[in-house]
Amino acid sequence: MELSFLGGAGTVTGSKYLVQSEDTKVLIDCGLFQGLKQLRLLNWEPLPFTAREVHAVILTHAHLDHCGALPLLFKAGFRGRVYCTTATLELTKIILLDSAKIQEEEADYANRKRFSKHDPALPLYTTEEVENIFASFHAVPLHEPFEIKHLQVRLFGAGHILGATSVELKAEGKTLYFSGDLGRQNDPLMLPPEAPQQADVLIMESTYGNRSHSKKTSREVLLECIHQTKKNQGVLLIPSFSVGRAQNLAHEIVQLKNEGAVDANIPVYFNSPMGMAANRLYEEYPEFHRLPPGAFDEVMDQVREVRSAEESKALNESLQRPMIIIAASGMLTGGRVLHHVRAFASDPKNILLLAGFQAAGTRGRDLADGKNEIKIHGALRKVSCQVINSDSFSAHADQDELVKWFSSAPALPKKIFLVHGEPEALTGLAEKLQSEFKVDVQIPEINGSISI
Ligand SMILES: [Zn+2]
Repeated sequence: MELSFLGGAGTVTGSKYLVQSEDTKVLIDCGLFQGLKQLRLLNWEPLPFTAREVHAVILTHAHLDHCGALPLLFKAGFRGRVYCTTATLELTKIILLDSAKIQEEEADYANRKRFSKHDPALPLYTTEEVENIFASFHAVPLHEPFEIKHLQVRLFGAGHILGATSVELKAEGKTLYFSGDLGRQNDPLMLPPEAPQQADVLIMESTYGNRSHSKKTSREVLLECIHQTKKNQGVLLIPSFSVGRAQNLAHEIVQLKNEGAVDANIPVYFNSPMGMAANRLYEEYPEFHRLPPGAFDEVMDQVREVRSAEESKALNESLQRPMIIIAASGMLTGGRVLHHVRAFASDPKNILLLAGFQAAGTRGRDLADGKNEIKIHGALRKVSCQVINSDSFSAHADQDELVKWFSSAPALPKKIFLVHGEPEALTGLAEKLQSEFKVDVQIPEINGSISI
């Protein structure tokens, strides 16, 4: 068997792992590279394998850095099936359509402003190309074995976001186990990841491999922010990923209101069309989260969904105080939240709560690093409001949780490959696992291959 690391190796984005056993080739995840320009340019390179020779893709979850290159795979000639859970299937459709739309808009904008070196500027893929691949998606239930030629596959819950899984793959008498992105032990909304199955080789994520999350809970951070916003008669603006984070935030804020921990009259606006499209899936797929049937709808009944761009603009003019706005995108790379930052960030009474991972090269990262000026829509904007950067909302296990998950396997794997992390996170986790468990841990390089 041969395992190749074609993305998500030495970095957090672009996850793609190719497994070849006899005449069968299977790809685990097919993600887009994101963040720094030199990474994003990789999306335009030809895929480092022959797409039409791949028999199937197994998708761990719907985040763009795990599914976003699927349309490119099909464009390159892939004709197999894409296997994942039902919730991942539905979320992936929403996320890929949004991705195509953003790329079409960006190409269109570049052509109108003529700032692209390419004439004409083209999207990586179009809405039509995305729609054409949906017929190849096949949902599979958790825990039930299925076959891709002679390979045996099972999916196990990974927490993280709705539908997310780890993948067990058996062939040639060996077992490979891909962790996928692992969620938290005590997330208020998502279930904890299932313990890993016994495996010969473990391919494990390391996003927070060298770090512990703050001991402060997300609940405590929200409580402080909301109390202060009320006292200041200000605006609490929370940039958020549309899928996962936004729902977690809405759920926790409504819970605080219902318990009487914060003023129940403070309006909460949910400003993400993609997030709204994802909301219904929480009721449809309750097996992937902690809430009982009906409870998520009750949360959303107490949140005001901002449906149109006009409503979003009207919020910027609104004199309502205090108020809370959850808006995408989470790292301030685009979306309606940028208009809110323009409207609210100059007022010291307001709070900007960065509640997610802020990748290098984004406006969110600049603010997290203490900059008080960011460029939005071509002009520098002063940020005088309070900026709070918190990792308490993370959907990723931290070092302690990763180690706990690793040690909960029925027997330790013979070989471990650490992926999906920045270099310091990878070496941090490798050292920890080696010293604590005396195991063989390797950090593969991008495009590296190993025989198993
Ligand atoms: Zn993820």
